[in-house]
Amino acid sequence: MNKKYRKAIIAGNWKMNMTASAVRPFIDELRAAMPKLKTCDAAICAPFPLIPALGKALRDFSRVAVGAQDVCEFPSGAHTGEVSCDMLTDLGVKYVIVGHSERREYQHEDDFKVNAKLRAAIAAGMTGIVCVGESLEQRNRGLTLEHIDYQVSSAVYGLTEEQARRCVVAYEPLWAIGTGVVATAEQAQEVCAEIRAVLKRRLGARTARAMSILYGGSMNAKNAAELLAMPDIDGGLIGGASLKPADFAAIIAATAQE
Ligand code: PEP
Repeated sequence: MNKKYRKAIIAGNWKMNMTASAVRPFIDELRAAMPKLKTCDAAICAPFPLIPALGKALRDFSRVAVGAQDVCEFPSGAHTGEVSCDMLTDLGVKYVIVGHSERREYQHEDDFKVNAKLRAAIAAGMTGIVCVGESLEQRNRGLTLEHIDYQVSSAVYGLTEEQARRCVVAYEPLWAIGTGVVATAEQAQEVCAEIRAVLKRRLGARTARAMSILYGGSMNAKNAAELLAMPDIDGGLIGGASLKPADFAAIIAATAQE
């Protein structure tokens, strides 16, 4: 499908790394390394306590938006340790990751919860980056597309077409996250095309055509261009390489070659 209907997006996921005092030097380095031309939207999804420092460092550098790595599906009240959508938007957060495989695995977040978080984030005006992906065992057993169909359908359940346009789907095969083993461009394209087919069935062709789909899993400065050249890969969700300003800038620059 034609890429002109949707945005290229490169989002960094710092995970549980960095400190508030390291944010300003990082952003200064990133700004110096950024390509001149803007060819994509970029965001950094930081741990909650670092968001104010990130917002401050990015105040005069609007090429990069502030993102978070999770959000509570409930609006307020007795949810000790949780962070609400309003708290994030009040700090200028524009993007929020939901359903990252590490949260699905270690915090036992299921598809129902992921859907609730995505709906809350979108209702609050943020762009939700919802992560889906198969395990190595599922891939080896030929269950990848079936699993992805289920995860994507559950994630977008109940969204209107208009709401879905504020949702980005990130395909992150579990076996490629943080392992240095990247999916081949063909493997990633096959699944991203399937994701778009599911979105088309659930939300209609025009909406599916307008939604950005990202690849995540050991994407780096060297392999980004090949992955981003695929017709259904509109950007990247970047873990390890987003912690190195020069590498993150090089991945952003790779969106120019599409
Ligand atoms: C991630 O965890 O979202 C991710 C893509 O990590 P990495 O790039 O380090 O594989």
